[in-house]
Amino acid sequence: MKISLFALLVFSLSFPPALQAQLPAIQQIIDAVNIDSMAWQMDRLTGQVPVNVGMGNQVIVSRHKFQPGNALAAQWMQQEFTRLGYTPSVQAFGTRGENVLVEKPGLVHPERKVIICAHYDSMPTGLTGPGADDDGSGVCAVMEAARTMADHDFENTVVFALWDEEEQGLVGSAYYASAAFGNDAEILAVLQMDAIGYDGDGDGLMRIHTRPVGNSVAIKDSALMVNTTYGLDLPILINNPGATYSDHASFWNQGYGAILVIEDFDNDPNPYYHTPNDRMEFMDLAYWHGLSKLTIGTTAAMAIPTMGTAVASASASIPVFEIYPNPARNVLHIRFGSDPAGSASLVITDATGRNVGQAWPVGSPDGTMQVDVSELSPGAYVASFHAGSTIMSKRFLRLP
Ligand SMILES: [Zn+2]
Repeated sequence: MKISLFALLVFSLSFPPALQAQLPAIQQIIDAVNIDSMAWQMDRLTGQVPVNVGMGNQVIVSRHKFQPGNALAAQWMQQEFTRLGYTPSVQAFGTRGENVLVEKPGLVHPERKVIICAHYDSMPTGLTGPGADDDGSGVCAVMEAARTMADHDFENTVVFALWDEEEQGLVGSAYYASAAFGNDAEILAVLQMDAIGYDGDGDGLMRIHTRPVGNSVAIKDSALMVNTTYGLDLPILINNPGATYSDHASFWNQGYGAILVIEDFDNDPNPYYHTPNDRMEFMDLAYWHGLSKLTIGTTAAMAIPTMGTAVASASASIPVFEIYPNPARNVLHIRFGSDPAGSASLVITDATGRNVGQAWPVGSPDGTMQVDVSELSPGAYVASFHAGSTIMSKRFLRLP
């Protein structure tokens, strides 16, 4: 039997919203994103409040590569990650470059990485470079991601990455992405935030930059799904092919899927961009809060929380549940080992837990079925076989 998932997919889109699985862990993480916590961090990164990394109070006047605040900020962020219970590391490059990194290992697929990131160096080149919007806004959101995700477990590894020397030509991220490619690293997604706090015209518009490289378009789709499924409802504009002016482009250059989350820089740019007045007082805190929630929620969805997801269980009546080939391009073969007809159904969900297709293996004497997955966007999915109280799940990859 061959079932066209495409037809079923159209059907599934008419499901009421309640059937678009909301994972409680993701909702909790989104709800925990706190603007006061982010503003507290911003005050320190922009020199409004001194920091103490063990040498008394010091002020981060500028995070520009050639200013002492750059290294001080790197130390401060490591100290903050440590306070949150993580073990940060520094990836040194060039003569003085330092990417600050934290890896939160995945419990199921530690080799698969979801990277949420921003750049901590700032402009202009003079003595004063607070860089609140560019890109303190992204840095504080990465720190808030680390805080809100600390008590949750995920199937995949989450990397909290703060790049150095973005303003020198994406140097830090290029170093990381090139090394990752050289090591054959499996990067599921890169979510870069750069300038996510300015909304001068108050229209709330934001942008996601993507392009057909790796699974970049699917990552954008996941963000759109999180935006609606978790009630954020931000007005999002899509740039495709997106611009290459931030660190996500370093990953595109290596063929990895990546997106850039950014304010509406095309039509409503921050007038204080790269000036000594790029300060939090000119940002829109509610707007900044929303873009941070979206990116952090999407990161959590792609990392897949381990709580609240279907767990494979044994069953006497359905001794077998195999899917092949995996990865699949067009047709997924499923073997049950016996006729699973009845109320049984096969449900396919995407990385955000959304139901993208359902099929009913009615009357298959040989205990097999085929599902056409050619219309699914490339990416990771879970096929779950439901029969009575039994749920058996297998993960599969759909290749482009
Ligand atoms: Zn920037």
